[in-house]
Amino acid sequence: MSVYEEIGLRRVINASGRVTVLGVSTISERVAAAAASGAQSYVVIDELIDKAGEIISTYTGAEDSCVTSCASAAIALTIAGLISKGKKSIVDRLPDSEGLANEIVLQKGHSIDYGAPMTTMIRLGGGIPIEAGMANEVSAEDIEEAITDKTVALLYVKSHHCVQKGMVDIATMMKIAKQHHLPFMIDAAAEEDFRKYIGMGADLVFYSGAKALEATTSGFVTGKKKYISYVKKQYKGIGRAMKIGKEGIMGLLTALEQYEHKDQKKEVAENLSKVQYLCEEINRIPGLKAEQIQDEAGRAIYRARMTLDPDYQGGNMQEIQSALRRGTPMIYCRAEFLNLGKLDFDPRPLGNGDKELIVERLKEIMEAQK
Ligand SMILES: *Cc1c(COP(=O)(O)O)cnc(C)c1O
Repeated sequence: MSVYEEIGLRRVINASGRVTVLGVSTISERVAAAAASGAQSYVVIDELIDKAGEIISTYTGAEDSCVTSCASAAIALTIAGLISKGKKSIVDRLPDSEGLANEIVLQKGHSIDYGAPMTTMIRLGGGIPIEAGMANEVSAEDIEEAITDKTVALLYVKSHHCVQKGMVDIATMMKIAKQHHLPFMIDAAAEEDFRKYIGMGADLVFYSGAKALEATTSGFVTGKKKYISYVKKQYKGIGRAMKIGKEGIMGLLTALEQYEHKDQKKEVAENLSKVQYLCEEINRIPGLKAEQIQDEAGRAIYRARMTLDPDYQGGNMQEIQSALRRGTPMIYCRAEFLNLGKLDFDPRPLGNGDKELIVERLKEIMEAQK
């Protein structure tokens, strides 16, 4: 029994993926041990933040990094940092940035809700989001014309949540930023490659600790030393409301080390075999169809996508999804494409016996709909 069931909460089977609504990910014994030891002694926090930045940078290839409570905090603190440029009087008054250069340019199709609005994280840091172009179509010209003397930085969002078509690519947007001598930031919160965007020349990149890394709840921004020094100063300002504890930091550092040695190929192969199991079993259930799909952002994440047989006369996918969530344990799937009649299963968080339980429950639900 989990500690959550002990306090009277229902068990949940997570087929959604690394999502905040279900607690993102679970940590390994090693990460848990590092977090526990970290919590059991004192340290000078400023020194820990500097040292953590040094260590994180060995995994990203950047000049320096700043550890944060999550990727959202990394975004807010970085924007505050770029607006204040290390000036104490500005750190003290943020998020009030009236009269200062405070505009952050992003593409309209990148102005997403990942569980909270991207624009809120920009505003938390004192920034004003400037959305360039249209939701389905952004040109280099749109970005150029959105830049004014109040622009502080350009933000690119790499995510399956973004509109994937019609957007300006990283290289083009980065070139525009460099031409205007503006920092170029990439939100790569859920990405799995911690070197890629720094390698491409981005000035600052944001990552979430609990997603690909399966760390304690944490995040970081990695990039140019000067900018990172501005970010760290925010811990005496708005950063206080986004404090990461010493245990969270130690969990993150251990997770980074563990990730370097992870057998990615083996993990992908295991997930593919779970996807295949789900597809085969679901295809045997009358009324249901399933196929293997790959993540929209092109990551090595495979899922089983379930649809209804076009000839099926019973209920709709919405009802199946509600029935999955109503039972005990609750089964959560990815419902992003539910309006199109598609329900996706991410096998990565599934524990022993979970995939069999999902199939059993689907059989019961379809039987009851007859
Ligand atoms: C998850 C996510 C975030 C937020 O990450 P947290 O660590 O939960 O704050 C930001 N941006 C994108 C694109 C994300 O997927």
